Amino acid sequence: MRYFMPTELFWGKDTLVKNFESLNRFGKKAFVVTGRSSAIKSGVLDDLLPLLSNNKIEYKIFDKITENPLLSTIQQATKEVIDFNPEMIIGIGGGSPIDAAKAIAVCAANSFSEDEFYQADLIKKIIPVVAIPTTSGTGTEVTPYSVVTNSQTRKKAGFGHPLMFPRISFLDPKYTISLPEKVTRDTSIDALSHLLEGIYSNKRNFINFPIIFEGIKLIIENLPIVLQNPENFESREKLMLASTYGGIVIAQTSTTLQHSIGYPLTTEYGISHGHANGMVMQQMMELFYDNVAEIIDEMFRYVGIGKEDFYNWLKKTGIQSKIKIENDFIENNVSQVMASRNMALNPFEVDDTIIRELYQNLKK
Ligand code: NAP
Ligand code: FE
Repeated sequence: MRYFMPTELFWGKDTLVKNFESLNRFGKKAFVVTGRSSAIKSGVLDDLLPLLSNNKIEYKIFDKITENPLLSTIQQATKEVIDFNPEMIIGIGGGSPIDAAKAIAVCAANSFSEDEFYQADLIKKIIPVVAIPTTSGTGTEVTPYSVVTNSQTRKKAGFGHPLMFPRISFLDPKYTISLPEKVTRDTSIDALSHLLEGIYSNKRNFINFPIIFEGIKLIIENLPIVLQNPENFESREKLMLASTYGGIVIAQTSTTLQHSIGYPLTTEYGISHGHANGMVMQQMMELFYDNVAEIIDEMFRYVGIGKEDFYNWLKKTGIQSKIKIENDFIENNVSQVMASRNMALNPFEVDDTIIRELYQNLKK
């Protein structure tokens, strides 16, 4: 078994200010990738811009990344990067801007055309990526993956390469205090998916189990506290830790059907990524339980609750398990789910009948 985790992590309150000099190794030119507002609301730019100026690092900001980043936006940013020729790319935000930063760093370094996108085997080099997360969910700050939507084909898919692990990530829970309630909840549920998928995936490994169990416990205990009191720093810190645990886990195991089935719900119905995973979470646990019962039982013993308590907890967070879903949607998307690269990682071979049934069960 191999365990590869090359990202250098800096953790804690004000860690960016305290450890900024670690960026000097890359050079004196940075391209900053972010969303429309998160880098401002979270306070990251207030910390970062004076540091860049004081350290004489020339920078350019690209702030047009939307939720579920689009290939077209990545191509637009790639052109700017090629012109600007930076020595590092700093991704600030939730999973969307950080995933976009990784994709831009790959496309610019390898001069990829649209046809070459998603083809990880063509990646030969990358511009170093630095990640500053403002959500606690995707774990992208410690994964080699990027998830991008092609709006022409309506396909949302991930790709990954060992070079795509961020070289440095700065994790400061204070940047998540400004998260709205819904984003706090949905992103925590995404982290919970990653931790559970570390059990379901047939690339599961025993090094991950202690952090999976602890990560799940942290989310179950701390999400309700943060939803009640968004400014509770200690609980925000624990959610961030759980999210990073989830990223460390899927960096080794990748995700499974739980993620593949959620992507079309996001592209077709605009359901957020974490919410989409949450909608199928109970069904997925029932589907895979028999294959990994011993580990799931051990996890619940560690957390101190049972499977039914967990389903009730999930319901109480407000995650819906029913939506208005069209038959056409199901027929159009089963093949996309079947073709997704993570289907090979399910604990048993899932066929299209099962996927149809999972979607049918979401119907109101
Ligand atoms: P996100 O799409 O990055 O952000 C969701 C929303 O929250 C946006 O409106 C964003 O605003 C806002 N926001 C973010 N941080 C904020 C803050 N501190 N204060 C106030 N608002 C804030 O959400 P995400 O769930 O973190 O990322 C989801 C994406 O990551 C999906 O595309 C998913 O597929 C992908 N993902 C990647 C991996 C991986 O390993 N690479 C794993 C799982 C999921 P702005 O629009 O202004 O930024
Ligand atoms: Fe995810």
